[in-house]
Amino acid sequence: MKKNFIFIFSCLLFIFSVTACKNNSEIQNSNTSNGDELTNKTRIKKEKELLLVSFTILEDIVRNIVGDEFKVESITKPGMEVHGYQVTPSDLVRGSKAIIFIQNGFGFELWADKFVSNLNVEKITIANNLEPMFISEDIYKGKPNPHAWISPKRGILYVDILLEELSNLDPENREKFKKNAQSFKNKIQKIDEDFSLFLNTLPKSKRYLVSCEGAFSYLTNDYGLKEAYLWPVNAESQITPKRMAKVINLVNEKQIPAVFCESTVNSESQESVAKETGAFFGGNLYVDSLSKKNGPAESYLEMLEYNLGIIKNGFNASLKN
Ligand SMILES: [Zn+2]
Repeated sequence: MKKNFIFIFSCLLFIFSVTACKNNSEIQNSNTSNGDELTNKTRIKKEKELLLVSFTILEDIVRNIVGDEFKVESITKPGMEVHGYQVTPSDLVRGSKAIIFIQNGFGFELWADKFVSNLNVEKITIANNLEPMFISEDIYKGKPNPHAWISPKRGILYVDILLEELSNLDPENREKFKKNAQSFKNKIQKIDEDFSLFLNTLPKSKRYLVSCEGAFSYLTNDYGLKEAYLWPVNAESQITPKRMAKVINLVNEKQIPAVFCESTVNSESQESVAKETGAFFGGNLYVDSLSKKNGPAESYLEMLEYNLGIIKNGFNASLKN
């Protein structure tokens, strides 16, 4: 008797869930009957869709464009070194759920080609639509410098490129993405203008940006600064006596007031340069990765503002002395 009761109860439960499912799909169908059926199906499906990106800065830029239309996740986490990242099994699992993988390119993600080759996923590469600047040193000579996002002016190009790609991916949201992108670009432009105004106040002979990684070529090029660094790319973040001596000589010769390093590497070598030359150590800039939660650069805009603030303070502090 008891068994029978359980059987009948289970059947009722089954019928109820089928009906509930049917009702649910009817609700969805009744929505579609009011509009474009394909559009609504896309929306229902898209709630589960994942845009996977290679690093946190790109994650933030993409999220600013798509809003809550997609899930956006980065393979590398805030604060991580990106160039030589080692892909984990859980990255592959996430990759298998993504509808697209978005990367910077220009050889930035040394691991990305292999990662994508293991997956059945479409790829967007920003660098395919950007003019490269080339590295002029060591084994990287002639290779494109990947760090274009560091310059606010190029950041605006990133937004334009991604807007086009993401609108092609999801044409029904083209207008929404366009609006989001425009408001985001306005904020980047404000930072761009502030930085240009500041640089105009610096004596021309002092307009040098000395960093750990040669990651600032786009920024220095776009804002009329000269660039010097301890090593060309973080994947090779070893300081040799020759490189160190070269930077020390330059700082002494040009009386460069301040030197900087970056958040994902050890700043000891650059602090030694500062000690040796009497230049002001201005602190660590964010380059390849956003800061961890509650850090000073949790978003792309914060990162640009923070970097430009550190550069301003470095110069202001040292020029007062
Ligand atoms: Zn880098």
